[in-house]
Amino acid sequence: MTHTRLLIIGSGPAGYTAAVYAGRANLSPVLVEGMQPGGQLTTTTEVENFPGFPSGIDANELMENMRAQAERFGCTMIADVVAETDFSQQPYTVTLSDGTRLTADSIIIATGASAKYLGLDDEKKYMGQGVSACATCDGFFYRKKVVAVVGGGDTACEEAIYLAGLAQKVYLIVRKPFLRASQIMRDRVAANEKIEVLFETNTVGLFGQDGVEGAHVVWRKGMPDEKRYDIAINGFFLAIGHHPNSQAFAPWIRTDEAGFIVTEAGRTQTNLPGIFAAGDVADPFYRQAVVAAGSGAKAAIEAEKYLTTR
Ligand code: NDP
Repeated sequence: MTHTRLLIIGSGPAGYTAAVYAGRANLSPVLVEGMQPGGQLTTTTEVENFPGFPSGIDANELMENMRAQAERFGCTMIADVVAETDFSQQPYTVTLSDGTRLTADSIIIATGASAKYLGLDDEKKYMGQGVSACATCDGFFYRKKVVAVVGGGDTACEEAIYLAGLAQKVYLIVRKPFLRASQIMRDRVAANEKIEVLFETNTVGLFGQDGVEGAHVVWRKGMPDEKRYDIAINGFFLAIGHHPNSQAFAPWIRTDEAGFIVTEAGRTQTNLPGIFAAGDVADPFYRQAVVAAGSGAKAAIEAEKYLTTR
């Protein structure tokens, strides 16, 4: 059993920024990095909208820099995931997947969010054999092939544009008659000759012998002029949003219906004293690295105040 004053759970922009602030405040934080050190940004390529990098920065480099900055101020990194929590009494207890038990006076939850799937059986069947939720991780396998991206938001547009740089053709499958993405992304999609947008279209199944060879799609599902047809594709990429990684804290920490951790208005304070939430796990709206970093800073400042005044 190891005791720490401040435990940070999660290694995205929120977790690492919290670690930098807490380290500089001499709290000697311990940070559990989770399954994907660096968080969701490590599944993208270039980050163009993080202030301070006028020409953009490679996403992995940005996260490695944040990690190094946290270590510089004395943060201890643990490469493991949280398996169980017991917040029924203080100090709070967290058990890692290797059985290590940590106790902490204060905790910052910064576990981020994970990709959503449509819920088709075929997604499971072809997982890793043509189905992916990360174009930048897996796009390389689809050079000169035909792929589909599902979704109409900024992520879907970004992924479609990225894949268009590798693949022969990209279908963007959008269930509404419009893209909800920002204007700049809509313009980029429209200008890309390799992207064909299938509006008002839903995917109902996938097919293929040893991997994805096509998708069954429906145009204007449920309408009198509904049309069902197949498209030939080798890769099927989901970009339909994310769900917050709050399950490990569910019995103790209050969330909304979608699982986002509820904090006090304008603060990172959760329903339990000394436990704070930062980044996408508590953010159903912005989902931006810079916003997550900002909330990580807020959480560390609130944690310091809590630890020095309790
Ligand atoms: P969004 O929630 O914005 O978009 C999700 C998309 O998936 C929507 O088009 C939605 O359709 C569609 N969708 C959801 N469920 C289904 C389903 N079951 N079947 C078919 N389609 C479905 O998520 P994003 O990940 O794109 O973006 C989240 C936030 O992050 C946004 O605020 C976005 O602006 C931001 N972001 C910003 C970026 C940047 O600035 N560089 C890059 C990436 C994201 P519908 O419209 O019908 O609901």
